[in-house]
Parts: sequence; structure tokens; C-alpha cells
Amino acid sequence: MAKNSCGHVNDHVKSVKPSAKGCEDCLKTGDSWVHLRMCLECGYVGCCDSSKNRHARAHFNQTQHPIIQSAERGEKWRWCYLDGVYID
Ligand SMILES: [Zn+2]
Ligand SMILES: [Zn+2]
Ligand SMILES: [Zn+2]
Repeated sequence: MAKNSCGHVNDHVKSVKPSAKGCEDCLKTGDSWVHLRMCLECGYVGCCDSSKNRHARAHFNQTQHPIIQSAERGEKWRWCYLDGVYID
């Protein structure tokens, strides 16, 4: 029941392309990251919560774009920050 209980998909998921091949902000500063996440509202690519800079979460805090998708090869899951749920 917890799955798909996100009401933000229709308004906040656009057909976006990844903005960069790596975390945009880590690339600027020469930092490294662990995993990549892509914002499904604007295409911003940022690093995950296991990375030291947590740019994907910082992007959400700044923009309130709620939904990210894993940008790792072979992973398709999406996550809503506002609901704290994975979306199919
Ligand atoms: Zn949601
Ligand atoms: Zn980063
Ligand atoms: Zn965004």
C-alpha cells in the first residue's frame, strides 16, 4: 500500500534529459560522489545521500522538485522526497 502513494508524479515528472554525465556540482568543484540521482522535473544530476556533498538532496531543498530517479546504470527506481516513498 505504501507504494505509489505519491501524488506529485503528474505535476512534477517531465520528460527531461540528464543535465550532465556526473554530479553537476561535484564536477564544478572537482569532488567525487558515490551514486547519481536525476531530478525528474528539470534533469539536474546530483549525488546521493551516501556521497559527502548530497547534492541531489540539496537540489530538492533549494527547488522543491520532489522526485528523483536513480541515474545508475540498470536502476530505474524513483523516489519522492516529500512523501518519502519509492515510486514504481
Ligand atoms: Zn510525492
Ligand atoms: Zn555532488
Ligand atoms: Zn530539479
